[in-house]
Amino acid sequence: MRLHEYHSKEIFNNFDIPIPSGRLASTPEEAKRIAEELNGPVVLKAQVLIGGRGKAGGIRLVKSPNEAEEEASKILGKRIKEIAVRRLLVEEAVSFNQEIYIGMTVDRENGDILLIASAEGGVDIEEVARSTPERIVKVGVNPLLGLKDYQARNLAAEIEIPRQLWRSFIKILKNLYQAYLNLDATLAEINPLVITNENRLIALDGKIILDDSALFRHPELIDKRDISVESHEEIEARKFCLSYIKLSGNIGCLVNGAGLAMATMDIIQHQGGQPANFLDIGGGASAEKVAAALRIILSDPQVETVLINIFGGITRCDEVAKGIQQTLREIQTDVPFVIRLVGTNEAEGRTILASADLITASTLREAAVKAVAKSKVKTA
Ligand code: GDP
Ligand code: MN
Repeated sequence: MRLHEYHSKEIFNNFDIPIPSGRLASTPEEAKRIAEELNGPVVLKAQVLIGGRGKAGGIRLVKSPNEAEEEASKILGKRIKEIAVRRLLVEEAVSFNQEIYIGMTVDRENGDILLIASAEGGVDIEEVARSTPERIVKVGVNPLLGLKDYQARNLAAEIEIPRQLWRSFIKILKNLYQAYLNLDATLAEINPLVITNENRLIALDGKIILDDSALFRHPELIDKRDISVESHEEIEARKFCLSYIKLSGNIGCLVNGAGLAMATMDIIQHQGGQPANFLDIGGGASAEKVAAALRIILSDPQVETVLINIFGGITRCDEVAKGIQQTLREIQTDVPFVIRLVGTNEAEGRTILASADLITASTLREAAVKAVAKSKVKTA
């Protein structure tokens, strides 16, 4: 779950990372009032969850409250890369000499936390990474040992932070690290962290991504989710507690258990097909949940065959069958279904589905072969 800039900055503030003063506005009048309070030039920043807002016209520097109102009326309601701007962060404008990048993320390969820093932060950081990768410094932090002083100092030295700012730079780095850990984030980044004309460090922009699987530990953060950038499928899947990931193929998969779902995708590929999604309905799924999962799969226009692979244990085959039956009643579809239904209450499940027009299989391999054959007929 990605947080808005203003949420990230609230968090920075809580962790003692300096940010510019400012507040949110949802109308031009509010923007004007905040600009009056701030009593100086301000920046208007569109709160949309996309990168490169600045370049797309989502950041405006203005000199007076009247100008703030005028510009705000132009940005609010406008779309930036398809997303409507509903709120602006109005902040005191900061004059700076240098833009620095600092960030941290999960390094799955090394099993540690990767700290990334560059003296050339700002909106072109991706270009810096591409054309001059040596200007990006990386340090792995062992999560069991924590961020050590020497690592922070090395980083400060490598990106040539002026000596008199080391203390505050190291403090900001450690505070960001603490925020990253405490919130179970998968990314915490300040870009740019600027050196102001008064020679202070301040976070002008921030990006925090939280680990969805750890969100239950942070109930205060759950309602900060902005679903305006999520697909209908993602929203539905979350509502029914389904693990759903859209993929690029044309065979929709409905499976119980993450391991079985992975195996199903593997065997589809092995047989020469391409899965359209990963979908785990979990253990003990109700008919409603199965129906929701099928609706999500069928709403994907790329899906040309559905493969249902249920290995009943806690999950009851009759309950799954009811969900399938319910969906087939609701939705008229000519997408063929291949089903392998074995385990708990298998016979009852088969009875429920006896009148439905389904292709049945008794092994996973057979199911995959049949689904792949069907998916090829359609595309041919
Ligand atoms: P992004 O485009 O979504 O990454 O938005 P940022 O908040 O990072 O802003 C983009 C760029 O706008 C920054 O890199 C700065 O160069 C500039 N900018 C943002 N805030 C200020 C400010 O207060 N004063 C000045 N002079 N420039 C700013
Ligand atoms: Mn930025």
